[in-house]
Amino acid sequence: MNEVVDQFAGSSLSPENASIAIGEDWPELREQVGRICEGFPQDYWYRLDQNDEYPDDFVNALTESGYLAALIPEEYGGSGLSLRAASVILETIHASGCSAFACHAQMYIMGTVLRHGSDEQKRQYLPKIAKGELRLQAFGVTEPTTGSDTTQLKTRAVKDGDDYVVNGQKIWTSRARQSDLMLLLARTTAADEVKKRTDGLSVFLVDLREVVGKGCEIRPIKTMVNHNTNEVFFDNMRIPASALIGEEGKGFKYILSGMNAERVIGAAECIGDGRWFVEKAVSYAKERIVFGNAIGSNQAVAHPVARAYAEIQAADMMTRQAAALFQAGLDCGEQANIAKMLASEAAWHAAEACFTTYGGFAFACEYHIERKWRECRLAQTGPVSTNMILNYVAQTVLGLPRSY
Ligand SMILES: Cc1cc2nc3c(=O)[nH]c(=O)nc-3n(C[C@H](O)[C@H](O)[C@H](O)COP(=O)(O)OP(=O)(O)OC[C@H]3O[C@@H](n4cnc5c(N)ncnc54)[C@H](O)[C@@H]3O)c2cc1C
Repeated sequence: MNEVVDQFAGSSLSPENASIAIGEDWPELREQVGRICEGFPQDYWYRLDQNDEYPDDFVNALTESGYLAALIPEEYGGSGLSLRAASVILETIHASGCSAFACHAQMYIMGTVLRHGSDEQKRQYLPKIAKGELRLQAFGVTEPTTGSDTTQLKTRAVKDGDDYVVNGQKIWTSRARQSDLMLLLARTTAADEVKKRTDGLSVFLVDLREVVGKGCEIRPIKTMVNHNTNEVFFDNMRIPASALIGEEGKGFKYILSGMNAERVIGAAECIGDGRWFVEKAVSYAKERIVFGNAIGSNQAVAHPVARAYAEIQAADMMTRQAAALFQAGLDCGEQANIAKMLASEAAWHAAEACFTTYGGFAFACEYHIERKWRECRLAQTGPVSTNMILNYVAQTVLGLPRSY
């Protein structure tokens, strides 16, 4: 393990000191990650955006420094850091103007293997993922016909001897072309044969190197952001039965168990984006002189930035609380979902305020505001939309009647 990360190793929190984590700020970690990010200035990201390219160099730098393996336990070659520390890494990447979208999935996807995989699967995959020899960046859940209604997904995996045969289609499977492995959620028991709609789904760790061109086809989707996302088609794709994670039929539960970490990580990225936009807006509003005054002296310019900053600080507190509860092994569904919603909205408000502050220059690509503004919008849609979070809060937290 890289010695930069080594100094933070093993600092997980117990339930007794979970509250301390709310204040944990990891200044050294911020400084070290920030130094890596300095090597990837805005022009680098602009070039990738123009050409729809994957940030290989950036992902390799994060992997080599050990930061991408932050959540992999030390016994499997990772640094065994807390979710709070992982959040700080991602927040710093985004606050520096870089983007972790290309590799963040690795942090939370591997949690499914870690918590529900067999010892053999963990030994086989986790050390290689930690070293960067294998990339686990692709997460195949969403389908074109069922969208947010995940339990109704139609991709079928049918046991056939020592294999499963998979048929169906996924959409928005980001990084499938850049990943060696994909975590796939598929139905193993027909929907009309299960008692609960969450039953009968299973998780597989698919080795894409073995199946692409042999029953698996990946087609890129051109999008308004450089997200390397795809449609993935399965036509009698054969995968070994050993690719099954945990018990057949329990896959939905396994995916759900990782979602709180995903929400916290996503919230941290939004907080980083928000900080980047506020910093840009503030420095521009101080420098730009119109009508003889710095534009920031107009409250119509200053207040939206100040309000966005206040929202970011509030979202940060909720994100810290969610991470602390998660680390302590306590339920954090409410906090993680609310954190993700507040952070994505705060970042969007900061993006809008920054866009307005820059006036016409916001539209000029060389200022990078328009690109970051486009990227920032995604967090309100995926990996879970604001509406679905509000459904969760209304129905699960507040006990209001369910609409579905
Ligand atoms: C760039 C990008 C990358 C992505 N990467 C991945 C990935 O790697 N892996 C993956 O599996 N998925 C990925 N997704 C998919 C993403 O998680 C979904 O787009 C998102 O969950 C919404 O699903 P949908 O697009 O099918 O919208 P739909 O489910 O069709 O919903 C459309 C709209 O209706 C609203 N809506 C639907 N039902 C309700 C309801 N009951 N109450 C209130 N509102 C409702 C939704 O909130 C949304 O606003 C990605 C998406 C994008 C755009």
